[in-house]
Amino acid sequence: MSVPLLDLSRQYAYLKPDLDKAVINVLTHGKFILGPEVKELEEIVAKLCNTKYAWGVASGTDALLLALRAAGVKAGDEVITTDFSFFATAGIIVRFGAEPVLVDIEPDSYNIDPNLIEAAITDKTKVIIPVHLFGQIADMDPIMEIAKKHNLKVVEDAAQSIGSTYKNKTAGSMGDFGCFSFFPSKNLGAGGDGGIVCCNDDDDGEMVRMLRNHGAKPKYYHKIVGYNSRLATMQAAVLLVKYPHLQKWSEKRIDHAKIYNDAFASIDAIKTPVVKEYTTFHIYNQYTIAVANRDEVLAKLKADNIGCEVYYPVPFHSQECFKELGYNDSDLPHSTKAANEVMSLPIYPEMTPEEQTIVIDAVKKAI
Ligand SMILES: *Cc1c(COP(=O)(O)O)cnc(C)c1O
Repeated sequence: MSVPLLDLSRQYAYLKPDLDKAVINVLTHGKFILGPEVKELEEIVAKLCNTKYAWGVASGTDALLLALRAAGVKAGDEVITTDFSFFATAGIIVRFGAEPVLVDIEPDSYNIDPNLIEAAITDKTKVIIPVHLFGQIADMDPIMEIAKKHNLKVVEDAAQSIGSTYKNKTAGSMGDFGCFSFFPSKNLGAGGDGGIVCCNDDDDGEMVRMLRNHGAKPKYYHKIVGYNSRLATMQAAVLLVKYPHLQKWSEKRIDHAKIYNDAFASIDAIKTPVVKEYTTFHIYNQYTIAVANRDEVLAKLKADNIGCEVYYPVPFHSQECFKELGYNDSDLPHSTKAANEVMSLPIYPEMTPEEQTIVIDAVKKAI
């Protein structure tokens, strides 16, 4: 029997009446761009994240784009981030003609190591982007302390961590900006692309709001040149139907993680996810294990029709497009090792106990 890495059709099966109604309602009222559902979603996310503002944008990537622009990043600046994340985190920095400065990760959490950040700061540094990878928030207290000391802005890449908490503080609420993605595979996924930017500062909030709509204020009057990066009303309508389930879905993922942890506890060859002492709610956007002979194990699982994937096989410093940054594997040993050893297993909320047993047995056999 095969087990998929993710199966969104199971969600649709029980949300169908509500989702169909919500989408038809948008088709009926016809306010397709920045309609009432967008405003409602923004209010809900601002409340969840405990921020003054939340502005819906076209994607998680654009959320980072608008936040970095509002933070004042320009050509020639440097932006510090992790070496180990989804490509958008580093790619977006280059869009400004700025340079990504890559910092190694903690080997246990896979998040940026705060102890290495200060050494990476120069007089060109403008922003730090911590990524809350796999659903666990990076160690934000020391990061915010360093940022304050050096007068840097912090943009949280919380694309994988909506609703997760650090010392009971929500992802996206601690930095100057919190950026989220509603890509369908995230814990709260739309029926297409979408994202949102959270912030507390009035000027920052106004800037993001203007930037997503060509920099206009009022309509047709442009003090700055912005983007077309609005969240589609249709996507907001889908997200409003799904949002009430988010907490329960994330708790289901935690339940699955516990079952995996118990099953793999006695197997030394498998490194299960480490939950840091400051993590008060890990939302397990991914359940990521590390094994030394990863590619072999992965191939065996794929042969058994087990959905599994490597997030991420290539650290930023090894990407062809970043070769000119001039890093070696030995500069970033932990992210290099992680890229060679990690693999993620199915953990979606609707996975059945039978399916999880199949995955566990297959992993054990492959190891
Ligand atoms: C998904 C993701 C993004 C990008 O979000 P999109 O909505 O796909 O543009 C950025 N950073 C991280 C860490 C992500 O996982």
